[in-house]
Amino acid sequence: MTAIRDTYLVEQSLLRTLGPMLGVAETWLYRLDSAGNLVRTLRHSRHVESAPEGGQRVEEQLEEEMAHPMDIPPEVEAIFDSVRILNKACTEKLDDNQHLICHPIYGGRAICGFFLLRRERELSGPEVATVQGVLEVFNNFYGLLDTSQRDRLTGLFNRYSLELNLDRLWNLLHARRQVPRGDNELRREQAAPQVYWLGVMDVDYFKTINDTHGHMIGDEVLIIIGRLLESAFRSSDLLYRYGGEEFIAIIAASDAEAAMQTFERARRKIEAFKFPRVGRITISGGFSRADPSVLPQEVINRADRALYESKNLGRNRFCEYEKLVAAGTIKAVNAGSVDLF
Ligand code: GH3
Ligand code: MG
Ligand code: MG
Repeated sequence: MTAIRDTYLVEQSLLRTLGPMLGVAETWLYRLDSAGNLVRTLRHSRHVESAPEGGQRVEEQLEEEMAHPMDIPPEVEAIFDSVRILNKACTEKLDDNQHLICHPIYGGRAICGFFLLRRERELSGPEVATVQGVLEVFNNFYGLLDTSQRDRLTGLFNRYSLELNLDRLWNLLHARRQVPRGDNELRREQAAPQVYWLGVMDVDYFKTINDTHGHMIGDEVLIIIGRLLESAFRSSDLLYRYGGEEFIAIIAASDAEAAMQTFERARRKIEAFKFPRVGRITISGGFSRADPSVLPQEVINRADRALYESKNLGRNRFCEYEKLVAAGTIKAVNAGSVDLF
C-alpha cells in the first residue's frame, strides 16, 4: 500500500504518453514498496476506432488495482526478475512472437517500479532513449511529490498525504478484480479476501514530556516513535503522522483479533523502549475496520472514539471500535452511510 500517493496523475500521463508513442494499445506500470514487493498496478489501454461520421474516435481506459503476486503471469514475473538482476531494461521474446519489454523505474537508487509493454517489434535505439528520457522526468516528479507528502520531522507520510488520497485509497483497498486472468483465476478465488483496519495512535502524557524536558527532546521522542512504529508494522502497511503526537496506521489483517495483535505489537514495542533522558513512554490507540460501505472520514472518527476509550481506561492500550459497540460501552453513531442502526 505504500506506493499510494498523489502520483496517480503523473503515472497516468506517463502511460498515456508512452503508449501511443510506441504504437501499442496497452501499457502497464507496476509499483513496488520499499521492501521490493509488488503493491499496485496501473493499466492503460487505448483503442482507436473510425467514427461513422468520419475521422477517428479514441477510447481510453485506466485501471488501477492492488497487485496480487498470484495475478502476475509467469513471463512477467520472469522479466521482472531479469530487470532486477541486471538492473536495466530487458526484452523477452514470447511464444506468440510478441516481445515483452520491461523498463525499471527508480526511486532514489533502488528500483521502485516497472514499466511494461508487449509489442511485435523490439524497441529501436531512439525509442529506448525516448522511454528512458520520459521515465527520468517521471522519477524527478515522483521525488518532488514524495517530499510534499512527507512529514519533515519523522519522514512518515503526513496528514496532507492521507487526506489527499483517502478516497482513492478506499476504492483501491476494496476494489474487486473483475477481469479473469486465465490460470490464476482459480488460485485467486481460493485466497482469503483481505480486510483492512485503521488505527489512530496517540502518545500518552506527551505534554508532560515537553514540559519536563523541553520541545527538542519532545521532537526527538516523536522521531523515535515514528521509527518504532515503522518497524512494528509491515512495509506494505501505511503509516502517517496525523497530528502533533498522533499517528494513523492502515493495516491488512484477516480479522479483528489479528489486527489487535498487530497494534499490540506496536504498543509493546514502544512500551519496551528506553527513550534517552525521558525513559519509558507509552501510547494509546483505537482502531476500526476500514469498512468499504463507511466513509473513510467516519472510520477515522470511529477509531478516534475507540482511542478516547483507551485513554479513559487508563492509557497504554488499544480498543477496537466494533467491540466497544457490541459490548454496549459506546453507542454507534449513524455514519451517514448505508447502515441502519
Ligand atoms: P494524553 O495522554 O491525554 O494524550 O495527554 P497528552 O499530554 O499527550 O495530550 P495533549 O494533546 O494535551 O498534548 C499533546 C502535546 O503535544 C501538546 C503539544 O505541545 C505537543 N506537540 C504537538 N506537536 C508537537 C511537536 O511537533 N513537537 C513537540 N515537541 N511537541 C508537540
Ligand atoms: Mg493528542
Ligand atoms: Mg497525547
